[in-house]
Amino acid sequence: MSEHKNNVKRLAIIPADLDKLPMPAFEYIVLKLNTLQDDVEFEFIPVEETSSFLQKLAPSEEFSVDDFKENAFEFIENVEKHIKALSSGYNLRTAIPDRYLLISLSSLDTHWYGLFEDKYSAIFLGDWEDMMAPPSLLEFMITLIIMEGLELVVLEDAVKISHLCTRGCIGDFNPTLKDVRYKILQGFLCADCKSILEENIGPEKTKKWISILSKEWLGHASDQNSPASIVAKLGYDLFITKGISPNLWQKYIIKLREEGIKESIKIIGAVITAAFLVWFGLK
Ligand SMILES: [Zn+2]
Repeated sequence: MSEHKNNVKRLAIIPADLDKLPMPAFEYIVLKLNTLQDDVEFEFIPVEETSSFLQKLAPSEEFSVDDFKENAFEFIENVEKHIKALSSGYNLRTAIPDRYLLISLSSLDTHWYGLFEDKYSAIFLGDWEDMMAPPSLLEFMITLIIMEGLELVVLEDAVKISHLCTRGCIGDFNPTLKDVRYKILQGFLCADCKSILEENIGPEKTKKWISILSKEWLGHASDQNSPASIVAKLGYDLFITKGISPNLWQKYIIKLREEGIKESIKIIGAVITAAFLVWFGLK
């Protein structure tokens, strides 16, 4: 367990090989979550990329649940040893995360998309298909990461934020990935789940999490200062790209929109110039 003395919980995100997903876009959007609330800090930690376990979690690979669990436990133990060794080597305070979240494009033979174990969770997006969009693959990831953050906040009650019925609530129990889209799209917290969160962190902080789940904070790609726009500049347009990275058609649409903005700027510039010329001409 970590040695920090505040109440902030720390969730370490460990991405495996995410194929062509633009990592700066992924990392930026995950770390943006730290600025929206103060219950959980999402963080990336140095891991040994040569780890055979991490390398095995490659896109399209399939694991049996038992095989995965057996190897993941040892992997996490090694990650902690690595963090301690690096911290000591750099003379830094050792900061072991409270929990770990492994994200991969591999899958389980049961086709479950997530595992929730004592020390770690794992998300398997190998069964994701284009027909599951919207939402985009990156939105799936963001919402599932927010969900893991929430579960860490209410760790003792985490199992209670799960119900069989589909309400479009983040607590909907969906055994396979194809049923997950509604809770990702709705970003809703039902009354039952909301009351569990309120019991743990109070109504004000719960409101913050509801707002985070709505993903309105992403804004729109046309607003230059919005997170969505920054993510787009980092290689993933949340409103056009569906899967791991944009296909040729999506790249064309993105280009058209960029050119459209450039053309609008040119036209506005020409109008202002013309107005000045007319104004000076009249004087
Ligand atoms: Zn619920």
